[in-house]
Amino acid sequence: MKYEPVIGLEVHLQLKTKTKAFCGCSTLFGQRPNSQSCPVCLGLPGSLPKLNHEAFGHSIKVALALHCSVQKEIKFDRKNYYYPDLPKNFQISQYDKPVAHDGFVDISSCGKIKKIRIKRVHLEEDAGKLIHQTGGPYSLFDCNRAGMPLLEIVTEPDINSPEEAYDYLTGLKSILKYLEVSDCDMEKGSLRCDANISVRPAGSDKLGSKVELKNMNSFKAVRLALEHEVSRQMEAVSAGEKLQQETRLWDAGKAVTLLMRTKEEAHDYRYFPEPDLVPFVPDPSYVEDIRKTIPEMPDAKAKRFKERFNLSDYDIAVLVSDKAAADYFEKCLESYDNPKTVANWIMGDITAQSNLKNTGIRELGISPQGLAELLKMIDGQLISGKMAKEVLLEAIEKRCEPAQIVRSKGLEQLSDKGELEKIVKVILGRNEKSVQDYKGGKKNALTFIIGQVMRETKGKANPAVINEILKKSLGE
Ligand code: ADP
Ligand code: MG
Ligand code: ZN
Repeated sequence: MKYEPVIGLEVHLQLKTKTKAFCGCSTLFGQRPNSQSCPVCLGLPGSLPKLNHEAFGHSIKVALALHCSVQKEIKFDRKNYYYPDLPKNFQISQYDKPVAHDGFVDISSCGKIKKIRIKRVHLEEDAGKLIHQTGGPYSLFDCNRAGMPLLEIVTEPDINSPEEAYDYLTGLKSILKYLEVSDCDMEKGSLRCDANISVRPAGSDKLGSKVELKNMNSFKAVRLALEHEVSRQMEAVSAGEKLQQETRLWDAGKAVTLLMRTKEEAHDYRYFPEPDLVPFVPDPSYVEDIRKTIPEMPDAKAKRFKERFNLSDYDIAVLVSDKAAADYFEKCLESYDNPKTVANWIMGDITAQSNLKNTGIRELGISPQGLAELLKMIDGQLISGKMAKEVLLEAIEKRCEPAQIVRSKGLEQLSDKGELEKIVKVILGRNEKSVQDYKGGKKNALTFIIGQVMRETKGKANPAVINEILKKSLGE
């Protein structure tokens, strides 16, 4: 019998806000342990949570961009569990009335568009962090992360391969980055993903028992873990084994999934309404105001680029995947109207530098106008393409605009015809033998003459102009 994988993903997104989800503590990353904590974070008696307006606005923005329906009445619930990273012994989350429900994300898989339905989007708080000493007799607790606003985005089990899961995650991340509601940085933990997977006879509409996979810290790891799990489950069912519902951890070093807990040990969270936060009905005009702040989304941008610019699908996909790069591209075109050249520079040298420095394109310090100036200098034969690349690197290092480097170093190519003619004349006078050789048929004598002109001008002479002058002077 043939089997097919069925996958549903749960993404946790840390929202970018100044303060935590239910108190005024700062959300800055990498601060001294336990310096961002208060009675609300610790759940001390008498402390009262208050919903962060910014976090709620971000949730609505994401919900709308994912085509979800906003919940009519929004309610928070307590999810109870006892664990040392959770001093309150419960997490404020949402159970039956999440911020939003029933949306979708379109992914393009193997050239076809597929809809992945979004089941729910809910707001919750993060737990604190335990720092275990290797072999030590105790563990340390850092409260700074406790209470950070998290948005959980849950799909329906509509994904049918590890590849589709990967495509969904990259597509979702691109949308979330466009919305500017999170850093979406998996390394810093601001984006995390759990994957649920089962297998079933191909074509069946019944769901098998699912395995929940945790501990993947990159999209590639999610894909690898799913690939491993698909094979493991298919082998098991093919051998007549009955799979059970369980939670498994991805071990990246060994490239296997390991059993963490079975259904018997599964949590019973005993959700109940959070009594300190009253249910509320968002004003439709508030929701509409947020809708207006949603920028052009990646799909729409790609469509527009395709209609307007003569670029390959690949170029468009690369540019659009990073909103900052796409904006930079369009800004640059305002002063230099050559899409292909601009795209090549952004996708080439500029992206290489931002990858190297691990920053965004904007943080490199070269303005789009600055790049446009540089490209104009190449076209005007003021500098060569090769020089331009060096100038760009130096401008990034010195944090100034490329034109400043060109000017300060006097790098401008010498293209002035009158001036070059004078120099050529001098060189020809000095090298009569080579001139005779050339006229007598020794073609490489010309290379020598060009070399002499280059030496005289310290390499700045424009080769095309010299060629033209020499051809004329040598009577061709
Ligand atoms: P739970 O209550 O265990 O969290 P949910 O119904 O909320 O389960 O689903 C969690 C995630 O698991 C969702 O993304 C959902 O699509 C996915 N899922 C549910 N059942 C299955 C299944 N049998 N196989 C694969 N994924 C599933
Ligand atoms: Mg769940
Ligand atoms: Zn606090």
